[in-house]
Amino acid sequence: MKEQILKKYPYRIELHAHTAPASACSHLKPEELVQLYHEKGYDGVVITNHFDPDKLSLDKKEAVSLLLQDYIRAKEAAKKYAMTVYLGVELRFQENINDYLIYGVDEKLLEIFYDYIPTDVVTFRREVALPHSVFLQAHPFRGGMTLCDAELLDGMECLNLHPRHNSAVGLATQYAYQKALRIKIAGSDCHDRGDQGMTALRCKALPEDSFQLAQLLKTGDYVFEIGGASLWIP
Ligand SMILES: [Zn+2]
Ligand SMILES: [Zn+2]
Repeated sequence: MKEQILKKYPYRIELHAHTAPASACSHLKPEELVQLYHEKGYDGVVITNHFDPDKLSLDKKEAVSLLLQDYIRAKEAAKKYAMTVYLGVELRFQENINDYLIYGVDEKLLEIFYDYIPTDVVTFRREVALPHSVFLQAHPFRGGMTLCDAELLDGMECLNLHPRHNSAVGLATQYAYQKALRIKIAGSDCHDRGDQGMTALRCKALPEDSFQLAQLLKTGDYVFEIGGASLWIP
């Protein structure tokens, strides 16, 4: 049974990873991150660097370019491995320290997101239409987080497998099912050597870009591999 599922969903993608300098907290250059994931046999990785109030010390152009540069470097490095790199983002508003993962991201959207960092999630969701993206709360039960109104979310990162944070993943998963959130995901939240590849989204066909990935997440046609050996069918 498990073998059949693995065969049916052969492609593996990391949904949550950080690189430096775009994320100051990461210890991995884009090239290093890509190499680590290649060594783990991944087909794709989403670069979800922080876009938070710290970035407001830069002007919009500089802040967007900081994120784009890491993505471009990763994409370039991935060419020799035939790996696909996707642009994602982990957005934080000034109102609190909640993080939101967005898939289906490009330069234009990053420019819009920058303008909303000084605001709050309610304003953002009311004013910014994201028909081709998905908006999820990251690690919602980690210390210091405020649960976002489920009505504002497309989904939730239930299993954040960052090894140095307790994200109370059982509570997050239970909550996501209770609220019948459409999209439930797992991510390694990779910041350093040794964090890579705690989980993978497994899919039937590899999305070509960030927007196709968002579309895939909406379909629900995927499974997650946890710790390399177990399967989670969300
Ligand atoms: Zn970080
Ligand atoms: Zn993160």
